[in-house]
Amino acid sequence: MINKTKIVATMGPASTPPDILEAMIKAGVNICRINFSHGSYDDVKNAITTIRSLNKKLNTHVGILADLQGPKLRIGEVENNAVELIVDNTITITTKEHIGTKEKIYITYPQFPKDVAVGDNVLIDDGKILLKVLSTNRSDEVKAKIIYGGILSSKKGVNLPNTKISLPCLTEKDLKDLDFALENEVEWIGLSFVRSVTDILDLKEIIKSKNKRARVIAKIEKPEAISEIDNIIDMADGIMVARGDLGVELPMEQVPMIQKMLVTKCISASKPVIIATQMMESMITNFSPTRAEVNDVANAVMDGADAVMLSGETSVGKYPVKVIENMSKIVAQVESLGAIYYREHPPILKTQTFISDSICFNACLVAKQAGASAIVSMTNSGYTAFKISSHRPKANIYIFTDNESLLTSLSLVWGVKGFYYNRYESTDQTISDIKDLLRSSGFVKTDDLVINIASIPMHERGRTNMLKLSYIS
Ligand code: PGA
Ligand code: MN
Repeated sequence: MINKTKIVATMGPASTPPDILEAMIKAGVNICRINFSHGSYDDVKNAITTIRSLNKKLNTHVGILADLQGPKLRIGEVENNAVELIVDNTITITTKEHIGTKEKIYITYPQFPKDVAVGDNVLIDDGKILLKVLSTNRSDEVKAKIIYGGILSSKKGVNLPNTKISLPCLTEKDLKDLDFALENEVEWIGLSFVRSVTDILDLKEIIKSKNKRARVIAKIEKPEAISEIDNIIDMADGIMVARGDLGVELPMEQVPMIQKMLVTKCISASKPVIIATQMMESMITNFSPTRAEVNDVANAVMDGADAVMLSGETSVGKYPVKVIENMSKIVAQVESLGAIYYREHPPILKTQTFISDSICFNACLVAKQAGASAIVSMTNSGYTAFKISSHRPKANIYIFTDNESLLTSLSLVWGVKGFYYNRYESTDQTISDIKDLLRSSGFVKTDDLVINIASIPMHERGRTNMLKLSYIS
């Protein structure tokens, strides 16, 4: 049994040594996330080289998600890397570079004094410190009252949930990081703090102008994105429920139902959705997770997420392999009980894609009704892989393609297992060839019922338009 729900692991010093990453991949990692908020280009290059050489060695298709930082706001350095902010005191936030003290801290956001209004909340370090704006000179200084204080260390993140931030979604750093990621042919690009569908469009425009085919994940972590969510899901190639920042930008109690809403919408739109942040947080230091964390991962799988993600747990944690083993076990257990399957949603008539949508939908219905063990498709664009997956069939989804970069992209997609295949002769010949291949490698066995979908005539390489049901001999 292969898990249907995929695992995304963030790379970092704890996970880039090749022997560790090899053990992580064997334990169930499908996608490696490279977080451009941390690490140098040398580190990134090194991680990418390791992932790719392990793919060759292990015959796997582990994909890469390059995560762009976006307009993440930060406090600058502070004195001795720790200053205490005391409740009820007033503090000045300056946009001029300055080593932070109790009285004055620096923020990396030049328009801050113009964008904020009196009464706006300023949350620092994932909401652990709360300030309220008292006044702004609208040029370079803001005064704020400390509502919840604490020890502030250098370069902590800042969230401004009530403020319309005028920074562009792709900062100068992001544009450089994007270039680097595209040169290295990563499969997925994550964009942080997406606020509107134009953020996605701008990014896609750049990718296209460089003749690349990387797909885009919109990270949902701002209230503005929630208000435009249908358009964003439509335009993006996938979504990340970025619960860390989302739970600071919005009241945290809203996050669980937003997670469920986003998963449901993504399944109907056939777009992969990743649940991220703090899933196994305690395993950064402990060798086993809390029971609440086990429940959280299980519930994400129940919701129907394509993938569950680890951040600090694998980038800097003490147990990068163990955490994957634990996550895989939780996923396998939930999937064995059956409640997550069969989320069919009928295709819409009279659309350009209706014929192939209908074939994918009906392949899943037939698979359910006949108890087929696999749905097998050949694809170059990957379209049918995303479609079949979105119906969440219990049958295995085997996708054959001669498009290498598609294979690694599909590693993020629920239930999909990809195979490289380039011997296109005739439909009959190819279907029987693929069935032999699946049987000899143990993915199906004699007397299993399988469904093949394909495009005929094959040489036209058109859209999927036929469905065949047969036994493995
Ligand atoms: P981050 O995104 O780890 O890049 O901040 C995920 C989140 O905010 O949850
Ligand atoms: Mn975030």
